[in-house]
Amino acid sequence: MRPYTLVIDHELCSGCKTCEVACKQENDPADGIKLIHISEDGPKMVDGRLDFVFHVNVCQHCDEPPCVEACAVEAITKRDDGIVIIETEECTGCQVCIDECPYNAIAFDPEKGLAQKCNLCYHRVDEGLVPACADNICPSHCIYFGDPDEIDMVIMEKRKKRKTV
Ligand code: SF4
Repeated sequence: MRPYTLVIDHELCSGCKTCEVACKQENDPADGIKLIHISEDGPKMVDGRLDFVFHVNVCQHCDEPPCVEACAVEAITKRDDGIVIIETEECTGCQVCIDECPYNAIAFDPEKGLAQKCNLCYHRVDEGLVPACADNICPSHCIYFGDPDEIDMVIMEKRKKRKTV
């Protein structure tokens, strides 16, 4: 099976946060917890003019996830299709995974005492759908879901075209 992942073309992100809203609607994390998170840097000089640079922070569904290794109760698993899942029913709230994630992609819900992260909407993927944030809701079309190698090729082609326009 080819792996699934989420890839963001950060060059195109305009910081609108539509993906954050789509994720909240689909997964309903507690208020204040974001499973996908936009941060902004700026204003600063970008290509000769003052602008903001946006970064989309979300689980990278790592090939060899340190969070999986770190979880003593095996609440985090990597599926054959590449999706890394936290089973919240199994989570003890020890928060070791939060320290181990190099992408700061795991949040902690203090009321429920549970770690939470993007599970790549696997409930949708298993129904043949794409994750809510990648379901054509991004006005900048910067969120891709699918095979990482194919996505990289598409992004490279689009960047080439932008540079020639
Ligand atoms: Fe990798 Fe962090 Fe996602 Fe675990 S939570 S798969 S360490 S990005």
